[in-house]
Amino acid sequence: MIKFLQDGNGKFSWNSISNISKRRNNLGDEMPVFMYRLFQYTLRDELIARFGKEVTIDIFRKSGERAGCEFAQNILDLALPFNEFFAQLQEVLQEKKIGILRIEKFDSSTGHIVLTISEDLDCSGLPVVGETVCNYDEGLLAGILKSYTKKSYQVVEVDCWSTGSRVCRFEGFLINEKE
Ligand SMILES: [Zn+2]
Repeated sequence: MIKFLQDGNGKFSWNSISNISKRRNNLGDEMPVFMYRLFQYTLRDELIARFGKEVTIDIFRKSGERAGCEFAQNILDLALPFNEFFAQLQEVLQEKKIGILRIEKFDSSTGHIVLTISEDLDCSGLPVVGETVCNYDEGLLAGILKSYTKKSYQVVEVDCWSTGSRVCRFEGFLINEKE
């Protein structure tokens, strides 16, 4: 266990991130996107080498989901009505330079949602390799949807820069927890 990451329950907590702008008083809280990608892709490589692709994708989705829950609970106002909540999410993702979010579809009777992110932090500009790569984002969006709706979501990326699209497109489905 890495102790600095843990809260009282032995889990990651938002406080583990610390007060970046106070503690990096000269450099501040920003850094280039290539550094984020360098970190993520080398980590992905190492995980695939040790555990295989399937497990790695699952790790990215699960950690993304935890990040999405923390992000939603610490950054977003979860009490807002649907349209205002998504307007807020859109604004925060753009302001933090994570990506430009759009909602293409939402069916309030089934919970099915289709979202796109353009200029995505993870993949915009990547070569076409024929498979989606934004597994962390799949989890992140699932975690945000779960925190907002209080229901479990599965989010799958259906289009990505790496499949030849110019936006990442994500479909979200409610998970029937009884199944
Ligand atoms: Zn993508």
